[in-house]
Amino acid sequence: MIKDMDLWEQTFQRIIREKKPHHRWKLKVDNNLEVKSLRPGWKQYTQKGLARFRCSLCGRSWVSAQVLILFWMCLKEPYGRVKMRVFGQRCQKCSRALFEEPEFSPEGVEKVLGCLVVRILLKCYRESARAAVPSEDPLREILVAARRWELRGVPAGRLLPEPIGRQGLGGPSQKHPHLVPGPAACL
Ligand SMILES: [Zn+2]
Repeated sequence: MIKDMDLWEQTFQRIIREKKPHHRWKLKVDNNLEVKSLRPGWKQYTQKGLARFRCSLCGRSWVSAQVLILFWMCLKEPYGRVKMRVFGQRCQKCSRALFEEPEFSPEGVEKVLGCLVVRILLKCYRESARAAVPSEDPLREILVAARRWELRGVPAGRLLPEPIGRQGLGGPSQKHPHLVPGPAACL
């Protein structure tokens, strides 16, 4: 479950081809991916990103910097594969809320995938890549995202910082504390 998959694929191809122009990598969504059920030959990487959600029942929006993204990576030169699963969150106001899909900004996609490529270089090529991703102030990042969304008609005051919904990982009983700015660093 992911919106703007074209953007994810194009961004990933641009970043990975800069680093490994002679190898061919593919990025695919796999909603059955689970933490800890890794198959032989695959490496695992989890990351938290910043995205917006909207409840399909009450219309409430919220921003979370704790959007969990799970990646599996496998390299058999010259081909590489990445499987990706993005975990949804649920509205905390609605008792029957569904897991909603996150909406990432282009900058958010760039950042997540920049970190992914750093991790691919490290785990699949054993290169200690210097992070090509700028480390931003996470709170500033949230404010920028909120401002952008406000331009689309969602008041920023409603986006900041609300208690985040529950992650799709681990079932409905897993709760998270209040919104915490996500990690700026990749590794
Ligand atoms: Zn709701």
